[in-house]
Amino acid sequence: MKLNELKLEVDYFEFDKKFYQKIEAQALNHPHLISYSKNACDLIGLDYEECESDEFIKFVNGEKVLEGSVPYSMAYAGHQFGYFVPQLGDGRAINLGAVNNWHFQTKGSGLTRYSRQGDGRAVLRSSIREYIMSEAMHALGIPTTRALALIGSSHKVFRSYEEVETGAVVMRMSPSWIRIGTFEFFSRGKNAKENVSQLADYVIKQSYPHLENEENKYEKMYYELVDNTAKLLAQWQAYGFMHGVMNTDNMSMAGLTIDYGPYAFMDTFDKHNICNHTDQEGRYSYNNQPHIAGWNLEVLANTLKDNCDFLKLMKYLETFIPQHIKAYLEIMNKRIGLNENLSGDSNLDLIIELLNALESAKIDYNCFFYELTKLENFDNISTITDICVFREPMIKWFEEYKKVIERQNQDFKIMKELMRKTNPKFVIKNYMLQEAIDEAKKGNFKLVNDLLNIAQNPFDEHKNFERYSKPTPQEYANLMLSCSS
Ligand code: AMP
Ligand code: MG
Repeated sequence: MKLNELKLEVDYFEFDKKFYQKIEAQALNHPHLISYSKNACDLIGLDYEECESDEFIKFVNGEKVLEGSVPYSMAYAGHQFGYFVPQLGDGRAINLGAVNNWHFQTKGSGLTRYSRQGDGRAVLRSSIREYIMSEAMHALGIPTTRALALIGSSHKVFRSYEEVETGAVVMRMSPSWIRIGTFEFFSRGKNAKENVSQLADYVIKQSYPHLENEENKYEKMYYELVDNTAKLLAQWQAYGFMHGVMNTDNMSMAGLTIDYGPYAFMDTFDKHNICNHTDQEGRYSYNNQPHIAGWNLEVLANTLKDNCDFLKLMKYLETFIPQHIKAYLEIMNKRIGLNENLSGDSNLDLIIELLNALESAKIDYNCFFYELTKLENFDNISTITDICVFREPMIKWFEEYKKVIERQNQDFKIMKELMRKTNPKFVIKNYMLQEAIDEAKKGNFKLVNDLLNIAQNPFDEHKNFERYSKPTPQEYANLMLSCSS
């Protein structure tokens, strides 16, 4: 399909005006295309060549409004680092409407009513990070918003005294942009009950359409979100992903990963790792993530108090951590090639021992699983011990692992197959993104596009990028990033 043939549908203006602002994007100066995603084009049936056109850049930059599109920003509230902020919203994002139920949103396209002290812009580095990572998460099977394209500009943006940066825009796409924070906003003030019920109907239509005619549909919506979030967090934990800012306004009502900021895929395994420099206390540390997700779901339950049986919601929330653990163990078993059904054993002890061994051995988390997948036999584990700082804990764990394999009669070939499907060769680490960012700042976007390709095909060989399948160089491992973006 041609760009001009895309017809957008806007469905947000059924809400009271206080919940959104119709606003047009403020275009960046001298915009230029950095990258577009063919995979994302396929979702909306857009011809790839269309993305090479000047018209497409104008579309991403907000200068060209497609048929049916009425740009707007949404209001929401949220708990930021545990504290309630009554008024947030799309401070730098503008919604354009949807094609095939993929709701377009540009991030970094200027001031809105919800910008607060912000400038409405997004810098190039954080835009590259969001653009690549959302596609990487999708390729790992982790529910996420997507990204269609990334443009850069000569627009000056100020985030620190040391450097003048430039503005960029990511064209994001998602089945839903509704957040727990949206419910927090709707559940306050006049007609709160009606407003929440209207929003819940909207979320059901968007993300849980099979519930539309059910009794107690709002309660069931909540239950499904609890289930989805438990699974999402299991995937984050199993792949060592840290979001960094799990405020309630960054938690999706569809159970997706949204709003990529100072995130990281763990380098050297450390349960207490904190990836966000602003998060001094480690509220959003790796180990805390599932508990924070539960906390956020409790906030959501509170907003549904007048529309649901609150006690039933709280009762259901008790299943969150057990569900999460079950889903987590399922993935972890696959990551070490064990077939749970064969043994009827969740291998909980073995997996906990593995985490302890990884931590004591100081080994790159995802590289461990990739090297495990490649082993010819479990007696020669030198390719793994070679990348440990301390070998002994790993050697000990392998002894236990071998005993379990023997006891459960696991077949080596089947184990390898299971691992091959679960353990990618490439996981996008922050140092790789930083290399692409450094190049991009010099005007060279090749590495951004190469990384996108790696991100989208993490199980493939990428001959020129063999080094990215190796452990993160020590000097770059487990560094924190700042929130400023
Ligand atoms: P975040 O944690 O990045 O998802 O952002 C939290 C809130 O701050 C949201 O309401 C954002 O829209 C807003 N925000 C962040 N950066 C900016 C900016 N540069 N200009 C305006 N609003 C911003
Ligand atoms: Mg946000």
